[in-house]
Amino acid sequence: MPGGVSSPVRAFRAVGGTPLVIRRGSGAEVEDVDGRTYTDFVGSWGPLILGHAHPDVLRAIADAAARGSTFGAPGEMEIELAERIVAAYPGMEQLRFVSSGTEATMSAIRVARGATGRDRIVKFSGCYHGHADHLLVAAGSGLVTFGQPSSAGVPAAFAGETIVLPLDDEERLTELLRRDGDRIAAVIIEPVPANNGLLLQRPEFLATLRRETERAGTLLIFDEVISGFRLARGGAAELLGITPDLATFGKVIGGGLPVGAFGGRRDIMRHLAPQGPVYQAGTLSGNAVAMAAGLATLDVLERGNAWRQLEMSGRALAALLEPVLAAAPFPATLVRIGSLFWMSLQAGAAPRSAEAIDPNAAVRYRPLFHSLLDQGVLLAPSAYEVGFVSMAHQARHFEQLRDALTIAIGAAAIPA
Ligand SMILES: *Cc1c(COP(=O)(O)O)cnc(C)c1O
Repeated sequence: MPGGVSSPVRAFRAVGGTPLVIRRGSGAEVEDVDGRTYTDFVGSWGPLILGHAHPDVLRAIADAAARGSTFGAPGEMEIELAERIVAAYPGMEQLRFVSSGTEATMSAIRVARGATGRDRIVKFSGCYHGHADHLLVAAGSGLVTFGQPSSAGVPAAFAGETIVLPLDDEERLTELLRRDGDRIAAVIIEPVPANNGLLLQRPEFLATLRRETERAGTLLIFDEVISGFRLARGGAAELLGITPDLATFGKVIGGGLPVGAFGGRRDIMRHLAPQGPVYQAGTLSGNAVAMAAGLATLDVLERGNAWRQLEMSGRALAALLEPVLAAAPFPATLVRIGSLFWMSLQAGAAPRSAEAIDPNAAVRYRPLFHSLLDQGVLLAPSAYEVGFVSMAHQARHFEQLRDALTIAIGAAAIPA
């Protein structure tokens, strides 16, 4: 496997060293093939909101698998999960299942283009939407706003249909949409950007985004692949009080199995085949075992009003970490929303755009990461990835992280 991994960030390139090879996980812990256990704040990068191997999810998977895993036909649990998401998410009238977050955003953009008859799309630098060609795009230089491929293998012509704007800048956004809006099919955003640090947006910026897209007839797509069913039952849309035209899901709705979904207004979604001319399909879409894992996860979350507990857990973690970070001999603050957290290792206010991120944070993060790992605490192997709190995390896990972080800050030679 190139880099020894099936997804690049797992290779530890950003922090150095050798990636863990995991043998098993249970609750808030994972065990590697050398038999070492770690308290896990990666949570498979978002899906494991109940922790590893939750008994209800295991039972649902086993029961479903015993009845057959895939049929290539509509399934009972697929309909139930669709109804659950439609009931939970603001403005969601119809949705379709896919097998990953990447497929969800790719398909949402295709239907947005098909429904509007426009080709261009807008994304924000610092937001990640999976690895489809037209979303692996970075801002062009200078005044040129048309995107350039951020990966080899992406044709410049594809990237040229994507305009990349900075977050946190309603002036640039308004100017673009008022000038060129009638050629822009959609604006896609992580309403709570959590793939390049945790870049919490000002409500005014998001309100402007909603107002100006509506005015331009440009569709607003909320990429809720991380935030959906994590920050609230109705995702970031509920939390922020903003209803997008389309939304994408992944991670939590699959309960640890490969699931994605996209959906929104019926008058947009009806453009999809077989009702409309926009083609989209999938052999394993709505896979019964995956649907069962997702349903079981949402059951546990809804039954216990888990979002209150996740907020309380996040708050408890922050209360433990904030004083440790404040006392560090280098700039460090905790950024948090609900069960997502990020250590911002730079001076000044928490950054709200990719451009405001200090690249030196990565240099500070490396020794911290390794010290924590040596002490049995697993954070993401990158300074710019968030941490995930799950329902399986308890006070003792947070205390372990606090104690390990205190030692890491005291022991590691970290540039100020
Ligand atoms: C993880 C993620 C994706 C991609 O999902 P995959 O299942 O990895 O393809 C898309 N958007 C956001 C916001 C994500 O966090």
